[in-house]
Amino acid sequence: MAPMSDLPFLHCFSGNRLDRADNLREDRGFIDRHRHNPASLILPFAEDRPGIRINGRAREGAAIDWLPLADPRIAERFREPVIFLGLDGEGRARFAAPLDPDRQDMGGDGRTKWIDLRSLAVQALLDAADLSLLAQARSLICWHREHRFCAGCGEKTGPSPAGTKRVCPRCSREHFPRVDPVIIMMVRHGNDFLLGRQARFAPGVYSALAGFVEPGESLGEAARREILEETGVEISAFRYHSSQPWPFPSTLMIGGFGEASTTALRIDYSELEDARWFSLDELKHMLAGTHPEGLLAPSEISIARQLMKSVAAGA
Ligand SMILES: [Zn+2]
Repeated sequence: MAPMSDLPFLHCFSGNRLDRADNLREDRGFIDRHRHNPASLILPFAEDRPGIRINGRAREGAAIDWLPLADPRIAERFREPVIFLGLDGEGRARFAAPLDPDRQDMGGDGRTKWIDLRSLAVQALLDAADLSLLAQARSLICWHREHRFCAGCGEKTGPSPAGTKRVCPRCSREHFPRVDPVIIMMVRHGNDFLLGRQARFAPGVYSALAGFVEPGESLGEAARREILEETGVEISAFRYHSSQPWPFPSTLMIGGFGEASTTALRIDYSELEDARWFSLDELKHMLAGTHPEGLLAPSEISIARQLMKSVAAGA
């Protein structure tokens, strides 16, 4: 089998090492056994923010605040859904769940902080496997909170034993977590690259162009439509590079390269504040922070920056 091209390009929020045990996790007996196993661990969330223990100086001692789920004094602090994330390398089950808002004081030593996942990633406080597991947990917790009613009959739904889907008690319809595909690409014409900026970006930042894939579209069709709509540039080909889970709340960024067949810009200012062609040399300076106009590449945690680095390295 050909190697999957994602694997050499390990993006932030990928690299999860848990075995999701998807053939076992809808068995209530399997989940109940693990919920009562003293070795099983649970990750607390306060709204969208995971509990992180800070020991000493933050960069030396940040770790996920895993708690023993079988301890009844711990278990009673959580609300449903208790979500099964998977089994670790030692066969221990890992769960995540939101804490009861009145029970977010986790022991009183003051070392548990509720830290936004984006901030944890930008500060590189945790390793790739932990950030990825937090992304899985955050996306699922947000999905449960936002999808509490059956889209078929309007009844209130409940989580399955593992919390990986919701089931309607009236019409039995199953509802699965959604993942929203977004295409993001470096558009190339010879040695020039098309980048854009949105008004919400940090000053000076230009990034690869992106857009949601719509129903009934292939990736190539979505790429062609988005670039034409936003910039007026036509692309003749799209080549997949790699993908990245983006847990805000649950997007899959599908990264690649587009070959432009035209270069004239007709920018849609309702979508973009600006779009420009940049030379390869400019791209390298943006990555290095030495562009003469002070222009910058996006954050290290973004797939857009990794696509730019890949181009700068001669991909
Ligand atoms: Zn229903």
